[in-house]
Amino acid sequence: MAYQCPTCGGPAERGSGRVAQQAAGLVGLLVYMAFAGYSCAKCGKIERAQFPPEVRAVMTRNSVLMVLGAVGLLALVVVVLVALN
Ligand SMILES: [Zn+2]
Repeated sequence: MAYQCPTCGGPAERGSGRVAQQAAGLVGLLVYMAFAGYSCAKCGKIERAQFPPEVRAVMTRNSVLMVLGAVGLLALVVVVLVALN
């Protein structure tokens, strides 16, 4: 999901995850995205502190959900591997 840039009001997105996606797969991408910074097409990188508190709260919640999703995915893979053996 996109956030609003605190400087210009334009769309702010999490840092590019393309490299991480190729390097570490879906789990790596989720973890990377959870901790990656944000950037605006016009203003460049945005510090987390520049966002209003309520937006930061949503970001934190989404980050936690992403990490939980990554851990859940990893657990699922392990369960499937164990079941196959
Ligand atoms: Zn901006």
